[in-house]
Amino acid sequence: MNKFEQLGLNAQLLQAIGDMGFETPSEIQEKAIPVLLEQETDLVALAQTGTGKTAAFGFPLIQKIDVDDRTTQALILSPTRELCLQITNELKQYSKYIKGLNVVAVYGGASITEQAREVKRGAQIIVATPGRMQDMINRGFVNIKNIAYCILDEADEMLNMGFYDDICSILSDTPDDKSTWLFSATMPAEVARIAKQFMFDPEEITVGAKNSGTNTVSHEFYVVNARDRYEALKRLADANPDIFSVIFCRTKRDTQAVAEKLIEDGYNAAALHGDLSQAQRDAVMKSFRGRQIQMLVATDVAARGIDVDNVTHVINYQLPDEIETYNHRSGRTGRAGKLGTSIVIITKSEIRKIHTIEKIIKQKFEEKSIPGGMEICE
Ligand code: ADP
Ligand code: MG
Repeated sequence: MNKFEQLGLNAQLLQAIGDMGFETPSEIQEKAIPVLLEQETDLVALAQTGTGKTAAFGFPLIQKIDVDDRTTQALILSPTRELCLQITNELKQYSKYIKGLNVVAVYGGASITEQAREVKRGAQIIVATPGRMQDMINRGFVNIKNIAYCILDEADEMLNMGFYDDICSILSDTPDDKSTWLFSATMPAEVARIAKQFMFDPEEITVGAKNSGTNTVSHEFYVVNARDRYEALKRLADANPDIFSVIFCRTKRDTQAVAEKLIEDGYNAAALHGDLSQAQRDAVMKSFRGRQIQMLVATDVAARGIDVDNVTHVINYQLPDEIETYNHRSGRTGRAGKLGTSIVIITKSEIRKIHTIEKIIKQKFEEKSIPGGMEICE
């Protein structure tokens, strides 16, 4: 009997888990799955990025859905359309041997009437961004008055993105006797507030230290002149020919500009930001997953929650405005226990920010110099 069997999962799920090549449950899965299977309870689960939270709620949820009933039984709220699609795809994989289970993704930037049609055909599980979900409710396209489960995934990121009001409004449309499962990497005050307002005596599961970053990630910073950021980026890429990285810029404009320059200079790069159409964004993500793109230049919003395996480097071309965001950025690498490097390119005047980040992530940075580029380093 493997460890997944011991958790009480059914044969169809175990078969799918075998197909996916998962051998042992991660810590959060080991702790959350039995609780969620055995009890009808509210739950607050905190675990770092990349620790397998999707399956921690996805496996028990799928096992609890009544496939003979085609009404909506569960709502999963998640911060971005990329994440919605990713969760939906994962749930479909998990449930590939379960006939009659329908999962529908509901997110902005795609036809709302098409999504409404899909829901109408029967969606036991809806995976939605808060904004589009609110829209669907307002237009009478969904009925969540009888759901049994509501999952708030990446709750900290959703609240960071300003979805507090939408979440409150959506939750107030759901029945009181449902179970609410909140999954988050960190527990800032706003998440605690949501938990307090909408959950009843929740079970609490914490894996690792609260608010800590992913510890398979090493953190490095490079001090350069402001005008040499781009040159520094190129040299980092040249020094790491097998680089497979996400590069973060602060604005859509910078994101587009850096990607264009990289492409001009012959690198396999692409931009990912909110000014692209959904089809363009999907195409970029597909090429990145398929590794036709080695350097994905992205804004924070576009890159939130993206789960692509084996990202070797996260590069902060510019530091984020909110230091908390650094955690989410660096969480794009070092996933599922793999090693990764999070790099920050900064100017001299920003060094104090590094010390602030060190305190938050409880890890030290290593200061390094740009390879072959002493002249551009301070
Ligand atoms: P989180 O939501 O905690 O950031 P994800 O659910 O996105 O993490 O999972 C991160 C990665 O780990 C995914 O690629 C997922 O397929 C993989 N993964 C999850 N659980 C396991 C497991 N038990 N064994 C191996 N890989 C796993
Ligand atoms: Mg997740």
